[in-house]
Amino acid sequence: VVSRKPLIAGNWKMNLDHLQSVALVQKLHWALKDAKHESDTVEVALFPPFTDLRTVQTLVDADKIPFALGAQDISAHDSGAYTGEISGAFLAKLDCSYVIIGHSERREHHNETDEVVASKVQAALRHGVVPVICVGETAEDLEKFGASAVPVGQLKIALENVPATGDIVVAYEPVWAIGSGQAATPEQAQDVCATLRSVVAETLGADAAERTRVLYGGSVKSNNIASFMREPDVDGALVGGGSLVADEFAAIIRFQK
Ligand code: PEP
Repeated sequence: VVSRKPLIAGNWKMNLDHLQSVALVQKLHWALKDAKHESDTVEVALFPPFTDLRTVQTLVDADKIPFALGAQDISAHDSGAYTGEISGAFLAKLDCSYVIIGHSERREHHNETDEVVASKVQAALRHGVVPVICVGETAEDLEKFGASAVPVGQLKIALENVPATGDIVVAYEPVWAIGSGQAATPEQAQDVCATLRSVVAETLGADAAERTRVLYGGSVKSNNIASFMREPDVDGALVGGGSLVADEFAAIIRFQK
């Protein structure tokens, strides 16, 4: 059995300018100082706004802080006349290991379709940046179709043309749980995460399913992280609000099963 290293990912969304991001990274580093060994058992990734990436990268490099870096979005194109877009090539040069793709806020406010998400996944893979593919149902979807149908459909399209060796992360984020304080239950999260893993198995094969990390996201806090991490198919968390306060995010990173 392959053991998957848990990933705790902090999505800062459109919060924290570069000065505030310096303060947060320093406080976080301080809060975790006596816990160096934890970087062996948990991977931590920060997803600042584009404008903070360089600052955070410099800090993390200078202090050898064991945080990976990720972006919150990527252009489907590699270069050229796409005003305002950010290429995967730029992200790779800034040592971004990850990029969030298809977050529900981008699907909702920027009209990102499943096809756009799929082309962004391809762009990330072209540049060696691991896509964190976000899928999840709205409250309305949940009522109409149950929990898994919509995320399964979203993931199938996102994985089209991904090679079996493709390095990806899947994040199950029920839209009704994001920023609402109403997290899914660990059983609900396990159920959908296991189903999503079976989609990875069907499309990319058993090996890929075994090594791919499937995260849960939606109102994860220090007081519920452990209950999610006990579930066999939940390999970590994508954390929004809970990643903006150093002590809270440190406590999430230090979860004990
Ligand atoms: C998110 O936006 O990915 C998220 C999970 O947010 P929150 O933790 O605030 O619910």
